[in-house]
Amino acid sequence: MNTDLTRLIRLQQLETAADEARRRIADHPARIQALDARLQGARDGLADIKARFATAGEKRRAEEKEVAGVQTRLAKYKDQLLEVKTNREYTAMLHEIETAQNDIRTREDRILEIMMESDELNAGVKKSEGELKAAEKEIAAERSVLDTEMVGLQAEINRTTAEREKLVTDIDRHVLAIFETTAKGRKGIAVAEAKDGLCTICHVRLRPQVFNEVRKNESIIQCDSCRRILYFAGNTEASAPVSQL
Ligand SMILES: [Zn+2]
Repeated sequence: MNTDLTRLIRLQQLETAADEARRRIADHPARIQALDARLQGARDGLADIKARFATAGEKRRAEEKEVAGVQTRLAKYKDQLLEVKTNREYTAMLHEIETAQNDIRTREDRILEIMMESDELNAGVKKSEGELKAAEKEIAAERSVLDTEMVGLQAEINRTTAEREKLVTDIDRHVLAIFETTAKGRKGIAVAEAKDGLCTICHVRLRPQVFNEVRKNESIIQCDSCRRILYFAGNTEASAPVSQL
């Protein structure tokens, strides 16, 4: 194979790998942010259910206080009942007693409901605490994976940059200029495999005589359509992956 063509294929691999590494590094803050948001969600969930549990406790204590007040009143009514002089007063007092007793029953039912609600909320608090603990552990592990990945990506960029610097000095200046101009206009991809008569990136069919020339891998030939530099690694039946070149 033409040595410049071999070097261009390698150059493209290096640039694509470096671009991918840079893209993942650029994504890093958003991924950390997503982890933080997940953790905050678990914390908010726990705080919310704890607040509801506390509110239920307050409501229960308020009802209990009311019941105690009504019970005091009721005891007073019962004492007064012994002292009434007329039938009318007696009936009125019985009515007061009945009203107070009903009030106590209603409030005691309400207290029972609140207690059941509190039990559920308490179980919810336990569950949320467990979920938060699990989320903290999971997110710490994911953060550590991301941090390790960042170190690896930076190393990848350093490695590809060093190899690139050495490689470009070996490439013919004119050929390198074609590569760089094309890369700039084609989102960084300046080299394309030709396969089964097609440019595999823009999918345009190459003229037969162009494809025949590309198959030889002896010269720098650009796709008529996308202007990428073409190389041949074999047709569908006997193709070698780029990485084996
Ligand atoms: Zn093309």
